[in-house]
Amino acid sequence: MTETSPARPANTGVRQTGPRTAPAASAPQVRPKTEGWTQKKDAEGRPLLQFASPKRGKPPVHLADLTPAERVEKVTELGLPGFRAKQLSTHYFTHYTSDPAQMTDLPAAQREELVGGMLPPLLTEVRRLETDRGDTIKFLWRLHDGALVESVLMRYPGRITLCVSSQAGCGMNCPFCATGQAGLTRNMSTAEIIEQIVRANRLIAEGGLGGKKADDHSMERVSNIVFMGMGEPLANYKRVMDAVRIMVAPQPDGLGMSARGITVSTVGLVPAIRKLADENIPVTFALSLHAPDDHLRDELIPVNSRWKVDEALDAAREYYEKTGRRVSIEYALIKDMNDHGWRADLLAEKLNARGRGWVHVNPIPLNPTPESVWTASTREVTTEFVRRLNDAGIPTTLRDTRGKEIDGACGQLVATTEDEAAAAAMA
Ligand code: SAH
Repeated sequence: MTETSPARPANTGVRQTGPRTAPAASAPQVRPKTEGWTQKKDAEGRPLLQFASPKRGKPPVHLADLTPAERVEKVTELGLPGFRAKQLSTHYFTHYTSDPAQMTDLPAAQREELVGGMLPPLLTEVRRLETDRGDTIKFLWRLHDGALVESVLMRYPGRITLCVSSQAGCGMNCPFCATGQAGLTRNMSTAEIIEQIVRANRLIAEGGLGGKKADDHSMERVSNIVFMGMGEPLANYKRVMDAVRIMVAPQPDGLGMSARGITVSTVGLVPAIRKLADENIPVTFALSLHAPDDHLRDELIPVNSRWKVDEALDAAREYYEKTGRRVSIEYALIKDMNDHGWRADLLAEKLNARGRGWVHVNPIPLNPTPESVWTASTREVTTEFVRRLNDAGIPTTLRDTRGKEIDGACGQLVATTEDEAAAAAMA
């Protein structure tokens, strides 16, 4: 660069956009305010952020917590030949079974012990809710210590998606999300994350997922994973990444899935996004932005007090540069709060300022949490928001709100006291 060339800011050369306000004769601005519950605050009166997992008894170590070498080691410790580890892995990752009765290739006398030591039960099904067609199923699971988590299984034309949880509860305290309201119970283990997929695959293999076309005789299993269940995946970084590695490892060491079909979604923990970009696993990366201006995002996504909109977008752009994977921006459209035309324009401007073709936007109408008076944007406003982004050259597709009627849609996952009673009765 010569002396006379204009100074360019660091990284992507993006101007910091000053606070933009709505035009004079504008639509109303509703501010994020919790209804029907009180948001936990820290000593300074800001929404509480919980990054560290509270100390609780660890779940039992499971085959899916171990590397292939460690599996052999553990089987040997149990007094059995190491090659049994591979057989067990085949049962678990290829046939989706933890049932010793089905493992006829293992010596009958040692089966119980081997399975007890390597495939301890991790998830107890407490409740299962299905849509009318049976093509969407929500599972409520009880973990070994009584903590409750949910997963949602969805059939789409040509793919089967499982929305998995990565933490029991969530510490990110977003006022529009049901999961955050009770705070973080604990991080889930790698095997607890994986077991959600294995259980879903078992159900699919048994023909339990509806909506299948009569002429479709293909062997089916979960093809896509979205980390959009309970929890902030990047706040449980190591276990989530170990789980991703197992998802993509070829069978029988892992589930043999494609990394491209795995979406990691985050509120925007910038250092962790950078780490993710360096992993060399081309997962799809999604940033839950929900507002292009710090003024609103500070309230909507409390972690914005640490990492601002521009920092989160810079990290997202870097993810694209390092991986070549197009990034998704998640945007829940909330009536009169974040759905203004000028916000669509500002979002487009900030994305275009970082280049072309690196990003697409997924708006989704808000799923109101119980008791919330916030509502989804109207259809007209939604269409207009999408149109403005598309016109600005940002590919934008409205996401569906699958599973709404069974409280299985995005942001609706919450274990209620009623569920806790059901879980206690089964304990
Ligand atoms: N913590 C991660 C993943 C879990 S939430 C994250 O925030 O990305 C998955 C997605 O659902 C996020 O985009 C989240 O913002 C969105 N979401 C949460 N509550 C919602 C609601 N009530 N309506 C629509 N989307 C919601």
